[in-house]
Amino acid sequence: SLTMDAIQQWLHRFALEITTQADWLTELDSAIGDADHGTNMVRGTGAVVAKLNGGATGTVQELLKAVGMTLVSSVGGASGSLYGTFFLEMGRNSPSGEQLNASELEKALRAGVDGVVARGHAAVGDKTMVDALEPAVTALYQSLANGLRLHDSVAAAAAAATTGRDSTEPLVARKGRASYLGERSAGHIDPGAASSAILVAALAATVG
Ligand code: ADP
Ligand code: MG
Ligand code: MG
Repeated sequence: SLTMDAIQQWLHRFALEITTQADWLTELDSAIGDADHGTNMVRGTGAVVAKLNGGATGTVQELLKAVGMTLVSSVGGASGSLYGTFFLEMGRNSPSGEQLNASELEKALRAGVDGVVARGHAAVGDKTMVDALEPAVTALYQSLANGLRLHDSVAAAAAAATTGRDSTEPLVARKGRASYLGERSAGHIDPGAASSAILVAALAATVG
């Protein structure tokens, strides 16, 4: 299961990895957007870390909701409201206890991704973060259903997120700023799909 400590470790890892990859994320966004995805994500995850260091405790539900609110209020771009929604919905669909077991984690992540879809109206294939998140949650569900341990199931989710991220390269964007480019958006990995693959990889690195 995922304890409060583990969830905070996940978020710290995510922030650290975003900082490491910020230039690449911004470079991806400079090809098909407005060259701010790295800075947006650094600002958002930095605010989350500050919030955690300020002593965010309580339940899993409260922690994840606080993360979502922090992202919404600290990041301007589309990604702020979408990642914010992801964590708010994860929180709303988590138990008011101090840990998440495998099925609770699966349910919370599913709700997070459904929240992103409800907010942004993107489907798989539209060249957005949904292309990384949706297959990740599907892989997690299938792996757990097949009796794999949580550790291996989350590793499968991370692999699916990476494959999903790479699948965005040839696509023409149908949602977000990149869609303004039409056919010219093809040939580049979607920045939000790249940061979402980092989010799932950070979770896989955390789940023991
Ligand atoms: P902005 O486009 O406002 O500058 P960012 O650059 O931080 O915001 O984030 C861009 C990313 O947001 C895109 O690469 C894409 O993955 C994601 N995105 C944009 N619009 C949508 C949407 N409607 N649904 C899902 N994801 C979206
Ligand atoms: Mg941008
Ligand atoms: Mg922007």
